Amino acid sequence: MNDSNRQLETAGHEMHALISRLFPICRSMTGPGVRETLQILQEYVPLEVHEVPSGTPAFDWTVPREWDIRDAYIKDESGHRIVDFQESNLHVVSGSSPIHQTLPWSELKEHVYSLPEHPTWIPYRTCFHRQDWGFCVSHQQFVELEKKPHAEYEVCIDATLSDGSLTYGEFFLPGETEQELLLSCHTCHPSLANDNLSGIAVAVQLAKMLSERKRRYGYRFVFVPATIGPIVWLSQNEKRLANIKHGLVLALLGDGGNSTYKKSRHGHAEIDRAAAHVLKHSDADYSIREFEPYGYDERQYGSPGIDLPMGCLMRSPNGEYPEYHTSADNLELVEPEFLTDSLRKLLGIVETLEGNETFINLKPFGEPRLGRHGLYEAFGCDEDQARLQQAVLWVLNQSDGRHSLLDIASRSGFDFASIRRAADALQQVGLLELRPSRPTETNFPAAPLAPAGDSTDLAGKASCHPLPVHEQTPAQG
Ligand code: ZN
Repeated sequence: MNDSNRQLETAGHEMHALISRLFPICRSMTGPGVRETLQILQEYVPLEVHEVPSGTPAFDWTVPREWDIRDAYIKDESGHRIVDFQESNLHVVSGSSPIHQTLPWSELKEHVYSLPEHPTWIPYRTCFHRQDWGFCVSHQQFVELEKKPHAEYEVCIDATLSDGSLTYGEFFLPGETEQELLLSCHTCHPSLANDNLSGIAVAVQLAKMLSERKRRYGYRFVFVPATIGPIVWLSQNEKRLANIKHGLVLALLGDGGNSTYKKSRHGHAEIDRAAAHVLKHSDADYSIREFEPYGYDERQYGSPGIDLPMGCLMRSPNGEYPEYHTSADNLELVEPEFLTDSLRKLLGIVETLEGNETFINLKPFGEPRLGRHGLYEAFGCDEDQARLQQAVLWVLNQSDGRHSLLDIASRSGFDFASIRRAADALQQVGLLELRPSRPTETNFPAAPLAPAGDSTDLAGKASCHPLPVHEQTPAQG
C-alpha cells in the first residue's frame, strides 16, 4: 500500500470516529444541537460560527424561531416511560410544539408515526414549517399500543420555540486566485449517520487535507441547515457569488451504494465534466443524474437568480435506500471503507479542477521532433512510456488555446492525471505554454496567496492565468 492509500485509509477511520462522536447529538434546523456539532468541528478545522437572528429576512423567507428540546416522553398509566426521547432523539418529530397532557390512545395515535414496512425501525419526521407535534415509534410498538385502545397516556414534549438564531459554520481556505470552490453540507439532522454526518465528516477531512496543499482555488466550506441554511447564507453573501467558479453539495457519502453525481443546473459546467470524468475512471459502477429542482441544497445554489454551477456528490441517492430517514441510518450503515472511497473521488474531482488549464502548442506546424526536445529522456524508462507518448501527442495536437486538459482527457479517453503529466512534461521542455489571459480575464487578479509552510501542489503546476467563470471551451467532436 502506498503512502497516499495509507493516508486515505486512516482518514476513513477518522471520519467514522467523527460521525460516531456527532451521532448522539439532537440536531435540528436551529438550536443547541447544531451549535454543539459546530463546536466539535472546530476541533478539526477553525471554522467560524455565525448566528443569524430569528426574523431576519432571507429572500422570500425569514429566519425561523429557535427550537430547543430538553426532554420528551409518553408514559403509560403506571408512570413508565414507554417512549423516551432520552433513548433516541428520533422519537420526537423535529420542530414539535411543546405539549404536556394526558390523552387517550384514540387521540394520541393521530400524532404517532411508524413504518409498517420496516417494523423495528423508527422513522425520522419533521414539522418545521407547521405548528404541530408528534412522536415516532417502531411499528412493533405501534401494534402493541393498538392492542389497548382505551388506555390513557401522559404525553410530554418539553421544548421551546422562541426567538433565537439560525446557526451555521463557515471555513475558508484561500487559494492563489480569487476564484473559489464552494462545498456545502447540511447539519440539521439528528441521529442519522449517512444523512448527513457522512457529508460533514468528508468535508472536514477534505478541508484538513487541502489546508496542507498548494491551491489554485480558494475553498469555502459551509455547514448549514438544509434549505433555509443556504437561502440565508446566499442572501448574506451575494457579493461573494461572482468568485464561485465551482460548487458541490456533499451528502450521503458513507453507505455501500455506488457513487452518484447529480449534475448542476447548467448540466455541462466544468464541475459536471470533472465529476463525470473521475467517476468514469474510478473502476467502479456509478451513476450520473440530471439536475432536477428537488433533492438537496443544489436547488438553492442553482435557483435561477443565483445560478451557481453546483452539483451534488453522494452514494445511494436520497430516498433511494431503505434506511433513509430512519433509525437504521446508523453507525453500522456507514463504513470507513466507503467514506474513504467517497473522499478519494472527491479529491480526484478537486485535483482535476485544480489541474484543468488550457495551453498553447509552441511548435504547432507539424509534430515537433520529440527526441530533439529531450522528451524521450523526460519519459524515462517508465512502463507507461508508450502511453505517455500517446498522451503527449494528444496534448500537442489539441493545445490550440481552445481545449482545456479536461477536454483533451475526455476526447482521448485518457485519465486526467496522465494528460496533466504529459502537459507538465511538454511545458518543462518549452513546447507548451499556458494560454494567455483573454481581455475579459483581467478582472480576475491572480494575487499569490500561498499558505505558509511546506505544500504539495495539487495541480502539479500553478496557474497565473485563471479563466473566468464559464469560460472553458467545450471539447469538440
Ligand atoms: Zn434528510
